[in-house]
Amino acid sequence: TPDIRPLIAGNWKMNGTRAELDQIKAMAEGVKTPLSEKVETLLCPPATLLYVATALCDDSPLLIGAQDCHQKVSGAHTGDISAQMIADCFGTHVIVGHSERRGDHAETDHLVRAKAEAAHEADLVAIICIGETLAERDAYQTLDVLKRQIFNSVPEGATAENTVIAYEPVWAIGTGLTPTNSDIEVAHAFMRAELVARLGGEGAAMRILYGGSVKPGNAGEIMAIENVDGVLVGGASLKADDFLAIYASC
Ligand code: PEP
Repeated sequence: TPDIRPLIAGNWKMNGTRAELDQIKAMAEGVKTPLSEKVETLLCPPATLLYVATALCDDSPLLIGAQDCHQKVSGAHTGDISAQMIADCFGTHVIVGHSERRGDHAETDHLVRAKAEAAHEADLVAIICIGETLAERDAYQTLDVLKRQIFNSVPEGATAENTVIAYEPVWAIGTGLTPTNSDIEVAHAFMRAELVARLGGEGAAMRILYGGSVKPGNAGEIMAIENVDGVLVGGASLKADDFLAIYASC
């Protein structure tokens, strides 16, 4: 979308140990090019690497975020981390509502919205993931699902500054399958209209990322589609070379 600064975001999921910190170092160095003024870059490593990753990116435009947060600030929630804890590690973003969280942990739209609100309270940008399953797509329910997920997962206080939408068809994640460019265009135009209806000018300026089997070979053409304001990348964000090739194809 013209006037929107695209975002290239990597999601390492449950991958990455200290041995992979050299990949983060290489990414932090590799994005130090003039393109970084036009394109924002973000990596979401596992929480165990968050603090050391932000230190490695101290003098780099590469931002660091987390993959999930609890909806509360602190308390008796063993194993969870809060948005404040992410901010305390100098993280700037948090992914909420990834389909793997919705699936593995039965997260609902309403919980995802509470997590996004918690992110905003901690001054983090919430990357809210939405997208249809294959069964929903086959039943021609894609746009209904996106409408419902936007309505229920995006908080009232969402702005173009504090919120990013990531459209990730569940069947396209980690499968090598992607929708056609025209299907992506239709979905993104629909989400744009829903966001504008809901949030006005903030919805018009909000970034809508595409995610699902984005690779160096298809990133450029996907990012050229109208209303695609960047990409959320899983597998191809694990290696600095792939991530930087996607960045360069912007
Ligand atoms: C993701 O999990 O956000 C994702 C898009 O994964 P992949 O790029 O591996 O399909």
